[in-house]
Amino acid sequence: MAERIAVPAGAARAVTLRAGDRLRIVNVAGKQVADFVAFDAGDVDHALSTLHTLVSLKRLFPTKGDQLRTNRRTPMLEITRDDTGRHDMLIAACDPWRYEYDFGVTGHRSCSDNFLEALRAWKLERHQLPQPVNFFQNMSYPDGRVEFGESLARPGDVVEVRALMSVIAAVSACPMDLNPISGYRVSDLVLEIV
Ligand SMILES: [Zn+2]
Repeated sequence: MAERIAVPAGAARAVTLRAGDRLRIVNVAGKQVADFVAFDAGDVDHALSTLHTLVSLKRLFPTKGDQLRTNRRTPMLEITRDDTGRHDMLIAACDPWRYEYDFGVTGHRSCSDNFLEALRAWKLERHQLPQPVNFFQNMSYPDGRVEFGESLARPGDVVEVRALMSVIAAVSACPMDLNPISGYRVSDLVLEIV
């Protein structure tokens, strides 16, 4: 029986996975970007690293069969299902300053704050948060430009990762509603652990 956890629109939830557990992120309504961070359950300074991962993949965009590496280059998770086929590993998580400096909005929810809230039990501070894998985020980098596209995720699309070690993971249903990444709106995600 799968463990099922709702991630309300604009919020985050944390889960623990043992080696071999699979975490499914369900894009219930479609187009919702899911920021994803993960830590070694035995040492939170050892964490999923997008920049180390893209070096090992020799690609910017991860997909099924790819192993996500840590800041010590250890394979931590493997993508075992990818319905959407487009995810990002370069864009920093949104934070209060993203909304303030770039959109003139104060008090907006953010993935960075969401992660601190969801991971409170582990007493993580902001500087300990790695930059996320942005599941379902449709970025392009033509000629080095940074272009924010609308997510290609359809309603019900799933991305699934299998843990290769014991991890603490957190998923944020990104609250960004001021650019096209989630279609200028925010919606719920569901997590399933199998
Ligand atoms: Zn965000």
